[in-house]
Amino acid sequence: MSEQEEQSEDLPEEAHGATSKRRHHRNRRVNAMEYWQKGVIDDTPSKERWTREFKDPRLKNIKHPIDNLPEGLQVQGLVVEVHRRTCVVRLALGVSVVARYRATVIDELGEFPAVGDQVTLGRAEAEAEYMLLRVLPRKSALTRPGPKDRINQQLTQAANVDQVVIVASVAQPPFNYGFADRFLLAASWSNLPMIMVLNKMDLVEELPENAKDFLTLVDQCIPISAQSGEGIEQLSAALAGKVSVFSGQSGVGKSTLINRLVPSALLRIGDVRIKDGKGRHTTTSASLFDLPDGGMVIDTPGIRALGLLNLDPQDLARCFPGFFPDGQFNCRFNDCMHQDEPGCAVHEAIEAGRLPAARWQSYMRILESGD
Ligand code: GDP
Ligand code: ZN
Repeated sequence: MSEQEEQSEDLPEEAHGATSKRRHHRNRRVNAMEYWQKGVIDDTPSKERWTREFKDPRLKNIKHPIDNLPEGLQVQGLVVEVHRRTCVVRLALGVSVVARYRATVIDELGEFPAVGDQVTLGRAEAEAEYMLLRVLPRKSALTRPGPKDRINQQLTQAANVDQVVIVASVAQPPFNYGFADRFLLAASWSNLPMIMVLNKMDLVEELPENAKDFLTLVDQCIPISAQSGEGIEQLSAALAGKVSVFSGQSGVGKSTLINRLVPSALLRIGDVRIKDGKGRHTTTSASLFDLPDGGMVIDTPGIRALGLLNLDPQDLARCFPGFFPDGQFNCRFNDCMHQDEPGCAVHEAIEAGRLPAARWQSYMRILESGD
């Protein structure tokens, strides 16, 4: 008997097209689970079989042993580093382990975990690698402003943080107004208090004029010299007992500062990290350090290094720091973009000397760059 004839025998009349052949093939596939358990071959059509397997907890358990781990094999920890396929998690007693992501966990979260996340790990047996089972609800987070427009796009920069600290320098490199604004936007978007640290004060006589624009916009401004140690005490007091997320563009002295605050950090000073084609640092991870007086510092590569601020222009116009100090949007037109609309409260404030023109220029740069 030819192969063709054999197929025709046990198939209904219409089942001769290519699709039907495939279906036929699938239906006859050996159900390995069934075979293994009962020593019989399962003839049920695949659709029914699939549903049944999913409903049978025993089968599910065997397919994903990690899903039904007894409590004793699960541990809780704190995410201290994030990589593409794994994260480093600190367990009780300070032991750190590498945990592999599960696609289902990442899909449910919609992004990777972030440094500062509390997570549950599990492993099927003692020597197996840890899997990330759950990310516990975040109490707060520093997120990149703007909507999420891609699946698995990382918006969360750090989780469960109390405050945001921007490290800027007043000279070498000069104070970066745009960087400060992007970070301030992220902090206010995330509803987190912001501390501005002005480093390298040993190089100047007084605060640069443009840095003064931020004095009323941030919650606290602390001038320091990471090199001489001046101002460090005041900063330490502001950080004690809190989880602070640090950011700063490279060269401002962030490593020098963290080494001073956390002597065990041993960060390399003046370390030039590899840059990608766009001249940005490629580091996507962040690190977490314990402060001697309690509290933690999370060191992120920074909003700008990570790309964007894909904020809706209307939102930007409404929440740009300093435009509406009492929280009241009081331009004449509800959708005022503060360009040349009549009755624009932002322009009125500038003309009356209540708002530095540099604020509006910085707004325009962010609006036009779109990042
Ligand atoms: P990072 O890129 O922000 O981590 O900056 P680093 O900590 O690597 O410092 C960059 C350079 O600035 C190094 O040469 C440091 O010695 C120098 N630096 C750091 N803090 C100070 C400071 O307070 N005063 C002065 N004059 N130089 C500093
Ligand atoms: Zn306006």
